[in-house]
Amino acid sequence: MYSPTPLSPRTIALFGSTGSIGVNTLDVVRRHPERFAVTALAAHRNIEVLAAQIAEFHPSAVAVSDLAAAADLRLQKPGCEVLAGAEGLVELARRGDYDIFVGALVGFAGLAPTVEAIKLGKRIALANKETLVVAGELLTGMAAVSGSEILPIDSEHSAIFQCLVGEPPESIRRIILTASGGPFRTLAKELFPKILPEAALRHPKWVMGKKITIDSATLMNKGLEIVEAKWLFGLPLSKIDVIIHPQSIVHSFVEFVDGSIKAQLAMPDMRQPIQYALAAPERIDTSYSLLDLAANSPLEFFAPEYDKFPCLTLARTACERGGLYPCILNAANEIAVEAFLDRRIAFTRIPELIESTMDSFSQKEATLETQPSAALDQIISCDTLSRKSAKRLL
Ligand code: MG
Repeated sequence: MYSPTPLSPRTIALFGSTGSIGVNTLDVVRRHPERFAVTALAAHRNIEVLAAQIAEFHPSAVAVSDLAAAADLRLQKPGCEVLAGAEGLVELARRGDYDIFVGALVGFAGLAPTVEAIKLGKRIALANKETLVVAGELLTGMAAVSGSEILPIDSEHSAIFQCLVGEPPESIRRIILTASGGPFRTLAKELFPKILPEAALRHPKWVMGKKITIDSATLMNKGLEIVEAKWLFGLPLSKIDVIIHPQSIVHSFVEFVDGSIKAQLAMPDMRQPIQYALAAPERIDTSYSLLDLAANSPLEFFAPEYDKFPCLTLARTACERGGLYPCILNAANEIAVEAFLDRRIAFTRIPELIESTMDSFSQKEATLETQPSAALDQIISCDTLSRKSAKRLL
């Protein structure tokens, strides 16, 4: 389970190439042209960046989910095959012209192409945590059948994955996900209703997309990572803990049954976990981002404040209820974050909206089908329904 097999040669289909994970993935490829080549790129609509990536990396085909942007790109790059729309992304993944599928699309859009890559038994380097949150049960079940390995790019899960190499699953007492605590870790709870988008977008340690930066400020990012860890490592919730670590140097811990704890440390640089997911079980020599322990001392750890950050508890609740509740949690969170960024709701309304959306579905309505294709359809319609429900509750 924790000993990924080597792959060679390594061609890459990068889904979500124009976002921060995509750009960092291409930087890893750029530094190691002898090891990696890009055969497919997919993006939502940023064709300016995509066109430059096509010129540099020469993929054999690309997909753009926005139809108008796809048409524009065809005019700009007549020599490159451009697939269009959500169907185009699925088609590109289904062609299987790659060894590694990098899943870095934002939000729910990553699910359908990832399903195709898993069906083909490909290695999945997964940055899109929402994919595992909404469909973890389905995807891990499909991967077990096809032999697809899912390697995390999320830094915390990469850390745990690295700590678990060579360790039997029964030796794990618990895993401990580290969280930076976000920009409001020390802010008084009374001031939370006054938090503005621009303050929430200033993450102290990581430069990331807007959605995940807000998720880091509410700690929903850590909540989603709890769900992600449950599926990636096949662990019950009782074995998944969170600790606040403002320096973001220790990326996570694993505690074993003998009381020994392993940690993975590195400078906060996404290229490190990306490179590990692409190259594992090998490690590639790199010159960037070496950690100077003395310069980064002291490393601090604090217990999470659940009353200030209710999103952590909501994610656990969704996981406990199971079925479609993590999908409802994720959809409601995306709507709430959008509304907050548009200044339509206060920061403290984010968890309230998620909770009331979850409560608007009965346990029976949220039961997941056991048959895979029925389950996938059900997840897709539950996502749509949950978004509608959250918008109504706004
Ligand atoms: Mg993370």
